[in-house]
Amino acid sequence: MDQWGLELVRVGAVAPSLLRRLRGDLAVCLAHPVWIADFELSPAEAFSGDRRQYSAAKLLALLQDPPLPDHQRRIGVTDVDLFLPVFAHVLGSAQLKGQVGVASVHRLRPEFQGEKPDPHTLRLRILKEVLHELGHTFGLVHCQVPWCAMSASLLPEHVDLKDPSYCEPCCQKLGVPRDGILSFFLKGDSP
Ligand SMILES: [Zn+2]
Ligand SMILES: [Zn+2]
Repeated sequence: MDQWGLELVRVGAVAPSLLRRLRGDLAVCLAHPVWIADFELSPAEAFSGDRRQYSAAKLLALLQDPPLPDHQRRIGVTDVDLFLPVFAHVLGSAQLKGQVGVASVHRLRPEFQGEKPDPHTLRLRILKEVLHELGHTFGLVHCQVPWCAMSASLLPEHVDLKDPSYCEPCCQKLGVPRDGILSFFLKGDSP
């Protein structure tokens, strides 16, 4: 597979430190270039007054601008609650075989469910969620391997059951080395 790269876009009030750490974690996991865009996106245009949530589909449309070179991917990271018409909420969304995706930390924060804030849990959850949406942009569908990042999850507790990695067949489709992901456990877990 070509040497693709991933651009992260800050969408709304995500902490810059969270985004920087996510970028570093993704670069280790994927062994491909990952960078933070030099522009940000406001989610305001995607707000639905009826649902009091933000349209994931609208954010995907906004994230397509400016256009990307064919081999690049772009994922927006946001703090707002996302929905799709058929779902009460989604943790993220992506174009299947497209170039853009979006992931939200909103429901991934332990405090959303009344638990204590936990930066480590949030760090792993958003990493897994971005890996998941990235896989969709490469045409990967939901994987039946329960720990694979491409396994489906609508709830944070489902995200916790997954590894921040893909199973071997999913790795091959993405052109991601398994050893890049394994090194996350060796290096990336330090505070
Ligand atoms: Zn999915
Ligand atoms: Zn898989």
